[in-house]
Amino acid sequence: MGTTVFSDIDWSKEGKQVGSLFLPHSPDDDAWGVIPFPAASIRNGDGPVVVVSGAVHGDEYEGPVVVAELLRKIQPDDVQGQLILLPAFNAPAMRAGRRTSPIDHLNLARVFPGDDFGAPTQQIARYVAENIFTLADFYLDLHAGGRTLFIQPSTHVVVSEGMAPELVRTNARLAEVFGVGITVQTTNMGDYRMPAAYTSVGGIPTLAAEMGMGGWVTGDSVKATREATHRFLKHTGVLPRIETVPGVPTRWTRINGAAAYVFAPCDGYFERRFELGDAIATGQVAGLMHHLERPEQEPEPVYFKSGGTLYAHGLVGHVRAGQNLAVLTQDISAP
Ligand SMILES: [Zn+2]
Repeated sequence: MGTTVFSDIDWSKEGKQVGSLFLPHSPDDDAWGVIPFPAASIRNGDGPVVVVSGAVHGDEYEGPVVVAELLRKIQPDDVQGQLILLPAFNAPAMRAGRRTSPIDHLNLARVFPGDDFGAPTQQIARYVAENIFTLADFYLDLHAGGRTLFIQPSTHVVVSEGMAPELVRTNARLAEVFGVGITVQTTNMGDYRMPAAYTSVGGIPTLAAEMGMGGWVTGDSVKATREATHRFLKHTGVLPRIETVPGVPTRWTRINGAAAYVFAPCDGYFERRFELGDAIATGQVAGLMHHLERPEQEPEPVYFKSGGTLYAHGLVGHVRAGQNLAVLTQDISAP
């Protein structure tokens, strides 16, 4: 049985095709409509099949900007193999500028391997898992911190129990070639429903990257994403002649379990007492929680449960109980 989603792109065809994935959708105001997800295939002869996606989350803009630029500029003569571009992987979320889809409120990075009988976000995941990731020799998934997160530019390499050492080495090499300052070796806390985790566990060399933050996009963040993406694509062999500039050496880190996260102990205003990149000691004060409803109560200190480097933190000051306030990384040796 095929998937519910269909496409006007023939993934086996030579040449450049710009089209869409179409997800049948029958909401209140449209009986027989579809949701279009822009996509492209640029294929030229034998060589690696490389998939690049942006907008898994709709409030992260560097990925869609750079993938769209590739879609406009790259011609079949530039390619050896096949470049598959998904600039709007979660198009409804992208159109709404939201992390999750406004249609079904699902996070595309929590639904793999997808479900033909599920909600729209699950259906698009299923199509890509079945029809595109099955072709892929490499996958690059471009993210950013979005509207709610400050984060250091970085790549993520998924390492799971039982992963082939050769795949770990290949992914490590991709991170080094990508050439941004920090690489986080992650187990995703055992959650493999993200597209990059799904492909990693499926044996496909994969890199995910966090290239911006705060729900804005700047010349610097786009340039950094473009340059790193070009290095990645040249390294895979799919764009053998693309011009590149050198990256920087990457520092290998990991997020060391639950103690690396600081969560809000209650609803309130969080007075943050740290900055991105700070060196943090175990037990250091992370900030103060000011009580909304109890002005007579002194603000409550919040502490770091472990030490490390301040890798990411929440953007808003008004937080609810359990909301993430900070994430630490610890340095490790290269795998
Ligand atoms: Zn994201």
